[in-house]
Amino acid sequence: MTTQTNDPEFAALRRFSALLGRDPLRTQAAGGNTSLKRDGVLWVKASGTWLAEAEERDIFVAVSLPPLLDAIRANDERAAKATDFVVADANPLGLRPSVETSVHAVLPQAAVLHIHCVETVARVARADAREEIAARLDGLDGIVWSYVPYVKPGLPLAREIDAVSKPGTNVVLLGNHGLIVAADTVAAAVRLIERVGAALAEPARQASEPDIAGLEALAAGSPYRLPTDPAAHATATDPARLAIAARGTLYPDHVVFLGSGTAVLAEGDAPADVAARATLPPMLLAVPGKGVLIHRDVLRGGDALARALAEVTGRISVDAPLRFLTVEEEQELVTWDAEIYRRSLAGASKS
Ligand SMILES: [Zn+2]
Repeated sequence: MTTQTNDPEFAALRRFSALLGRDPLRTQAAGGNTSLKRDGVLWVKASGTWLAEAEERDIFVAVSLPPLLDAIRANDERAAKATDFVVADANPLGLRPSVETSVHAVLPQAAVLHIHCVETVARVARADAREEIAARLDGLDGIVWSYVPYVKPGLPLAREIDAVSKPGTNVVLLGNHGLIVAADTVAAAVRLIERVGAALAEPARQASEPDIAGLEALAAGSPYRLPTDPAAHATATDPARLAIAARGTLYPDHVVFLGSGTAVLAEGDAPADVAARATLPPMLLAVPGKGVLIHRDVLRGGDALARALAEVTGRISVDAPLRFLTVEEEQELVTWDAEIYRRSLAGASKS
């Protein structure tokens, strides 16, 4: 069997995974996943690991591809976790495959990259996403795209991609979720990300400067703190961003890391009182005109998702028709055992 040490494509997978993982506009925290198929084995990112760490740590786990594909197509629920198909003697660290392993399996190309790129997310959050994408991607040489309206990540999504993708599909846009590209080599897949990102790009709206002193005063004595990335403040300092964010949740990792939607601090209210009143205090609290506060109990990765929200909402026009996750869709994410596992890893290494 090909091993990770003698195949230059593995080196490319690790290098580009780390580059994608370190770019907050492309991947946030433990989100996003990448894979490489070799000799009937799917090497896929392990659940809860960070693409950004792809060069420092072993983040890939080997899964036997033929039985996994059989299970996906036979509606065998073991395909969901894919743990039964892990190549045990190639998994000394006991890693668990990504919740999106089945998505990587159904695409035939050797290299598959899945990211939550903010340019894509801003387009696929729209109710008219398919038309928006067609207007920007149709006619681009070498790009065969398909669009899959929101379904729960993991096995349901893999089945949907398998059903709707025409032969040769190499770009899949996921409604209220993100982007998948697939190619024969990792470098070719990365080029697809760059081309699609450029075609979907919109300049981010300007936002006023945050009121750091005002936020610090509000946070004092409360379980809230300032975000580690100041770019997160734009959600609350740009009224258009705030109007969008306050309406609900646009994509899964927001609810996984920050909870449902974005709480907005009312005039005259105090963050300490908001936390005291709530059974589950909001992890992200927007203070209109001033900036955002993050709850100290947030999972590792919550700050990256707070930044992502500012980036995504800043690239959506004020009058865009949007589709938010329904209450049922949010519920199935927070009660899904695969996500509970991923959150437990984030909690265990909480910064
Ligand atoms: Zn995803």
